[in-house]
Amino acid sequence: MTRKPAKVVLLDRDGVLNVDLPCGVRALAELQMEASAPAGVAALSKAGYTVLVITNQGAVGRGEVSRAEVDRINDTISMHITAAGGRITHYYVCPHRNEDNCACRKPKPGLLQQARDEWNFDLATTWFLGDASRDVEAALAIGVRPALVLTGKGRTESAEHPHVPVFANIAAFATFLTTQESQP
Ligand SMILES: [Mg+2]
Ligand SMILES: [Zn+2]
Repeated sequence: MTRKPAKVVLLDRDGVLNVDLPCGVRALAELQMEASAPAGVAALSKAGYTVLVITNQGAVGRGEVSRAEVDRINDTISMHITAAGGRITHYYVCPHRNEDNCACRKPKPGLLQQARDEWNFDLATTWFLGDASRDVEAALAIGVRPALVLTGKGRTESAEHPHVPVFANIAAFATFLTTQESQP
């Protein structure tokens, strides 16, 4: 069954929706939202975007956090987003370590490919907003449009990508996207 192309925005999790930690968020108690995230996602949802999250969680493969705890963290992020009027439809999670050499750990585009297979979005007009170089690389590998925030790893890694649009945070990105769209 082929679906009609969906209006989708792809988001990285750590450093975009929640505060990135040096070793990853390994327990729900460590979760801190990025202040701009609830309003930012709400703006995207209100503009009619389906919001999908694309996240590496290598700590699962390293045995530092259970997959169930990752799901609890994701559910809690979604709860904060829902409280602001937004909606995250699905989390695509790579639980593997670097050395597992899977097809889904960013910078590989496996998770983006899976999302694309399920949602049939138009590659050339769909954005993937992240904070790290591997997000940009994954976006370019499949052919969606990369964008970076200056939160999380974006504070340093955005300098490596002079041709990629950079936004202060996800709320600024949402303003850009929804304003651009309302132009004649
Ligand atoms: Mg990140
Ligand atoms: Zn993987």
